[in-house]
Amino acid sequence: MLSDEQIERYSRQIILPQVGGKGQEKLLSAKVLVYASGAVHAATLHYLAAAGVGTLGVFSEARDDILSALSSLQDSDSVHVLTRLNPDCTIIVHEAEAVRSPRRLVEAYDVVIADSVELHDACLQAHRPFVYAQIAGEEAWLAVLRGYEADAPCLRCAPQILPATAAVSQHSAIGDLFVGAQLATETVKHLLGMPCSPVTHRLRFHFPSFQCAMEIMDKSPHCLTCGIVVHR
Ligand SMILES: [Zn+2]
Repeated sequence: MLSDEQIERYSRQIILPQVGGKGQEKLLSAKVLVYASGAVHAATLHYLAAAGVGTLGVFSEARDDILSALSSLQDSDSVHVLTRLNPDCTIIVHEAEAVRSPRRLVEAYDVVIADSVELHDACLQAHRPFVYAQIAGEEAWLAVLRGYEADAPCLRCAPQILPATAAVSQHSAIGDLFVGAQLATETVKHLLGMPCSPVTHRLRFHFPSFQCAMEIMDKSPHCLTCGIVVHR
């Protein structure tokens, strides 16, 4: 049951027919894990906190990365910036040791936003949606991967979208904000039970022109990762 304060805080969302009071309660009870690897995910965290997602798990291989990612969009140098943004939001910071048991980590959440192959594989095993974006230069690709479903590809089905090692850093701040917002939007849509982007497609963005296109991603019949998960 939403309090009067929450009804006022989320009034602009609650009036949307796709959200309503019940939808806002869903968001407040939802748990989302974000692998904070840079400014894109820092932006995503801010959007999710503002939307009223109740629990945000933040994970990074290095705690300094979390702090620098969060501080890249705000003056504060602390994860508490998110709880100040929305006191309804509980922030859980996972230390690097958590990735030693990635499946246990992702099972505690409803959705995972990351660009880590290890967390992707854990999501596949645990049947959790993996919301993924890759930026290279002036373009970005975004996909909601559910390779545990019969016709849905996993990250390893499409090696061309596997996380790049060096090319991802050359993009603009507006690209970070734009992609961060898209990651949050796809996550909120999933949490609300709204139609999401097709699991067989990825979205491709071109920042300068803001052009967007859907590209087909096929599930590989030879994929040893999601094939084993689906057919076991
Ligand atoms: Zn696969």
